[in-house]
Amino acid sequence: MEFSAQTVQALMQVNPRPPLVMVRGEGSWLEDHHGKRYLDFVQGWAVNTFGHCSPIVQDALAAQAGTLINPSPTFYNLPAIELANRLTAAAGMSTAFFHSSGAEANEGAIKLARKWGRVHREGAFEIITFQDAFHGRSLAAMSASGKAGWHTMFPPQVDGFPKARINDLESVRELIGPKTAAIMIELVQGEAGAIPATKEFIQGLRALCDEHGLLLVLDEIQTGMGRLGTLFGFQHYGVRPDIITLAKGIGGGIPLAAVVASEKASLFSHGEQGGTYCGNPVTCAVGVAVFDALTAPRFLEGVRNRGAQLAIGLQRLTRRYGLVGERGVGLLRALTLDDNDSAQIVETARAMGPKGLLINAPRPNVLRFMPALNVSAGEVDLMLEMLDWLLATRRSAVAA
Ligand SMILES: *Cc1c(COP(=O)(O)O)cnc(C)c1O
Repeated sequence: MEFSAQTVQALMQVNPRPPLVMVRGEGSWLEDHHGKRYLDFVQGWAVNTFGHCSPIVQDALAAQAGTLINPSPTFYNLPAIELANRLTAAAGMSTAFFHSSGAEANEGAIKLARKWGRVHREGAFEIITFQDAFHGRSLAAMSASGKAGWHTMFPPQVDGFPKARINDLESVRELIGPKTAAIMIELVQGEAGAIPATKEFIQGLRALCDEHGLLLVLDEIQTGMGRLGTLFGFQHYGVRPDIITLAKGIGGGIPLAAVVASEKASLFSHGEQGGTYCGNPVTCAVGVAVFDALTAPRFLEGVRNRGAQLAIGLQRLTRRYGLVGERGVGLLRALTLDDNDSAQIVETARAMGPKGLLINAPRPNVLRFMPALNVSAGEVDLMLEMLDWLLATRRSAVAA
């Protein structure tokens, strides 16, 4: 079928999209229906761990598709067992449960936190979350999120998510009371524009949780699986969480997510959690392949090196164009402009030729970069050159 304005009418319109169809991808490059190629620093929203159509993902999919696709969640399957063992061993935690999306995994973590409150804190059910946080689009995950305008979108909200401020320990302490069961946070607020929590703050949250008998839940959906240059983000922060949620990069582009819990937080009884696709062998087989490639010798060192290269390049552009600055950890980085032009820059970057550039504008004044974790040094340099050109032409356009 040919692409036209009419043919897309059958798709529910939930966000503005350019009149393009993406048809093919390889590594850091994506190709549209005109054959134009784009250097992709969005990568399916930080999910394509090894870029587009990585052989790591292709081979795992093909092998598992020819072996067993779905025996039903009534039975154990080997890939789910293997992935649960790898994740729990690496995280120093106890059990894992698999889902298909980040929002679902966060629902699972929320359920575990409420069970913790019921069993250990006399029915406490509140989970302290944060302003500008993003935890997904199910009703509870939207309620846990702190995005502006979300609290009035589909009322009533799910109850019990008081909001504190990131890097403000006092704002958290003030909210702790007899109804509090847990604190849930992103180590680097991704959708808010790569805003890192400080080490001191996260360690302070751990101390508060220990003091009051609360669970520390880390939403590592964006920060986990190598993105920060460590397998899990919490390793970068030097804390031990009680529960982590993983999605995005864990499946290398395939819909896979996980809740991983310490022994004391592994509280589900039979009948309290489940799902038709939870822990199916196809997605878990990809998860195993992604895990093994991420933990191969020196791979994460490469992520840290590319992260440092990107940071230095963004700092250079900051000085050259008098911007506000860059921030982030590993390969989750953002550049803050001195005006609200980020959406315009994203448009121009995509539209320019002969090759386009795909980047993201999480805020009117912020550009975000989430390349594949195996992006090459040459591709990082090329992105920086393209961005330099975009910033230069914007300046001369303003001056003209
Ligand atoms: C993307 C994201 C989610 C939601 O994941 P989905 O797979 O889109 O449901 C939740 N939390 C964080 C931190 C995310 O970045």
